[in-house]
Amino acid sequence: MIPPPDDPLLDPMTALAREIGDELLAMQRAAGAQIGALVLRRKGAADLVTEADEHAHRRLLAALPALSDLPVVLEESARHRIPDGPFWVCDELDGTINFSRGRPGWGISLARVDGVPTHGVFYLPALGVLVQAVRGRGTWLNGAPVRLGAGPVALTDAVAGCELNPHHDPVLRRRYVDPVTLRTLTTTVAACAVEAAAELLQGRTDLYLNCRGAKIWDFAATALAVEAAGGVTRSLDGRPLCWDAVEMGVLFAANAALADAVQAAFEPA
Ligand SMILES: [Mg+2]
Repeated sequence: MIPPPDDPLLDPMTALAREIGDELLAMQRAAGAQIGALVLRRKGAADLVTEADEHAHRRLLAALPALSDLPVVLEESARHRIPDGPFWVCDELDGTINFSRGRPGWGISLARVDGVPTHGVFYLPALGVLVQAVRGRGTWLNGAPVRLGAGPVALTDAVAGCELNPHHDPVLRRRYVDPVTLRTLTTTVAACAVEAAAELLQGRTDLYLNCRGAKIWDFAATALAVEAAGGVTRSLDGRPLCWDAVEMGVLFAANAALADAVQAAFEPA
């Protein structure tokens, strides 16, 4: 097994993700059947905020400057502006709805972006999955290198990961979601970008489609992990992902032929 590279940022990012992720897992376990009581408010059609999100927010704000003193973009901040130079972008708790129902598909996601994501770590403590990625170096899952690029090239042979929530209106469903999910072997809904990415990296799914409603903090670490493992990431129109805006839609695929097949299936506008 080839260990992840010694990297002046990756090691402390990993330690911080593990530390905070384990604190969140302790909160979920301590709440037990009363997990719903941790929900503080609803902040949108498909978004909740819990005490755990706010705990991780405070921890990241305090700890990130010691890793590298960059501007910080966090989901739970009141305002979001994408800085011009390098910055941290993190999701304190991705999969809050899963977390608040006692489900295991949630995690913490940390990335450094400098034009494009350069370093990414995401950790799903309830599933025991840690993913590390460095641009140009590779992706590791629980310390083992991940290689994508193989797998099915036809939609009819593929297992899809997809998100379905109130952000996906009938127009999006008709244009993007239905053409894919009506052709694939089956479709899984993680309701969480880090779990969906972990599934793709483990070969449990072959593609991931998230059309709308997700943000830069959902994809900075996950897209880097897919790319650095040899997989494909694109925006829905086929162009490379842009890292200068908060709102994003993505297509991840294990290989370029499958990504092409997904895009060929989309209905024209
Ligand atoms: Mg979050």
